[in-house]
Amino acid sequence: MRPGPLFPLEVNVSSNGAVPSCPHCGEPLLPFALPEAGGWDSPFQLACWNDECPYYVRGWTWMESEYGVRSSYRYRLDPGTGAASPLPVWSPTAIRDQIIEADVEVAREGDLVTTPGTGGGYEDHP
Ligand SMILES: [Zn+2]
Repeated sequence: MRPGPLFPLEVNVSSNGAVPSCPHCGEPLLPFALPEAGGWDSPFQLACWNDECPYYVRGWTWMESEYGVRSSYRYRLDPGTGAASPLPVWSPTAIRDQIIEADVEVAREGDLVTTPGTGGGYEDHP
């Protein structure tokens, strides 16, 4: 169990008033907690958790053909810098338990803030 509320989470990516979404599949990005020793500026990052995302689906094929490993990566966005990078995953459920259950809200300035959810699930995933 993670202690304490670490909210609100502020996202500094310019967003035109919308929650950042994955450029590959259009699904809204969800925040997830970073490993302790990650050395990142932000306490969390955003990633696409859609298992049908073309970026993620293509990653399995590519990694297996290039390296012979069962691995893939998800689209990740650093909320501090707005820089995108691949998030390596070794299974469909990898890092999923790090997803922060929070509602991402768009602040008036165009910044994003997430507030604690009320246990909102991810039932829209098939
Ligand atoms: Zn996606």
